[in-house]
Amino acid sequence: MTQIASADESDAAKAQHELQEAGVRTVIGTVVNASGITLAKSVPLTRLKTFHESGMGAAPVWHVFTIDGGIAFTDSITTVGDMRLKIDIAGLRVLQGGRAWAPGNLFEQDGAASPVCARRLLADVEGSLDEAGYHVLVGHELEFFLVAPDGSALETAPWVPYGATGLLDRSAFLDDLLSELNRAGIPMEQIHAEYGRNQFEFSLPPASPVRAADTAVLAKLIVGIAARAHSMQASFSPMPFAGTVGNGAHQHFSLRKNGLPLFSGGSGPHGICAEGGAAIGGIIAGLPDIQGFLTGSVLSGSRLAPGTWSGAYLCWGLENREASVRFLNEGKSNPHGANVEVKIVDPSANVYLASAAILALALDGIRSGQKLPTEIPGDPGRLSEGERHRANVRLLSDSPAAIIDALDKSHLARGLLGDAVVDATVAVRRYEQRIAAELAPDELAERFRLAWSI
Ligand code: GLU
Ligand code: MG
Repeated sequence: MTQIASADESDAAKAQHELQEAGVRTVIGTVVNASGITLAKSVPLTRLKTFHESGMGAAPVWHVFTIDGGIAFTDSITTVGDMRLKIDIAGLRVLQGGRAWAPGNLFEQDGAASPVCARRLLADVEGSLDEAGYHVLVGHELEFFLVAPDGSALETAPWVPYGATGLLDRSAFLDDLLSELNRAGIPMEQIHAEYGRNQFEFSLPPASPVRAADTAVLAKLIVGIAARAHSMQASFSPMPFAGTVGNGAHQHFSLRKNGLPLFSGGSGPHGICAEGGAAIGGIIAGLPDIQGFLTGSVLSGSRLAPGTWSGAYLCWGLENREASVRFLNEGKSNPHGANVEVKIVDPSANVYLASAAILALALDGIRSGQKLPTEIPGDPGRLSEGERHRANVRLLSDSPAAIIDALDKSHLARGLLGDAVVDATVAVRRYEQRIAAELAPDELAERFRLAWSI
């Protein structure tokens, strides 16, 4: 069973009937908040129409629940008031165990979209791109570490980065993961054992921005289901074990206008068209401003070390894994066509907000006629400081406080996505920084190893 109802036949009664036939008893609706954690309400299938039309109650503090279960109140987000969590019927998917899942949006009681609703903000950015004639596809990568149910490290030896041993050692889990993804209609592109011990990565196929982000949330949930079935948990922390490699949540996107790609077939480097170059230029220029949406958690900075393929250097380059923006060329070996990969994003980010911020910068770059910066072809870490200075390459900040201060002060970020979501993000991330002040790096990694798990 794959997608239950298409957007134009979003009839709750029809969906309910089909779900019933598929053995579904309960429907889980999820939203992702400013901390990057996934919150949910579950209803019996008979309440599907209500879940879709009037929604279920959710306190405004849902936006600012923190990674330790606390609340980072702001001037406007207090204990007073209520919101409605409404599911998008077109996104319904069947899971195992008599459950279905759907992505949700948060609304005010008067029916207006909540200004902090990340899925709505991404839909708005997608709409603006569409109106301007740009068709965008986004592809997500998911990295995670398998750990014991209590979050402690699993005994697995040896571990060969990118090796076949990890695939065999964890084959029962990987089998279940694949069949659960299939059941939910998510075609997995590929999976491999990653660099870190018990770390895996898989990629999802490109889709329109909101749908792609929905699928990333669902895929994460399914990883959680499959891990539990094998007495494990999956850590989506940016740095599950201090001092090792972290988890990325790289996002790829491509742009087309009038049916033609903007990252190939043009006269710029590697065939990049002027507008494609402006989009890349907009991202490079604005990345330090919106970094708080992509790598804002208290554990995010420790992942951004040179040499770890997290894209710590603010630059772009063809197949350059040390560049925050890696360019993938069109060609026979690239079935998805030319695209750019924003490598710095990690899984503590709200996936909807991260896409919204990246794509809003791309559109802003096009509108303001940004120039494609000079390409950095090699590893910037091999250049001397003077050479990096001359090439105009620098490391992005790895300081949680500086990253969030930059977001807070950014007129650009506030102009692109609004004050409400910037303020909520700043509030939860500063709260994390206050907790972290008392913890050593390994204690911090351990304490929040499962904070972003589903
Ligand atoms: N784990 C790396 C990161 O933190 C990415 C490795 C890769 O390029 O797949 O982003
Ligand atoms: Mg990887």
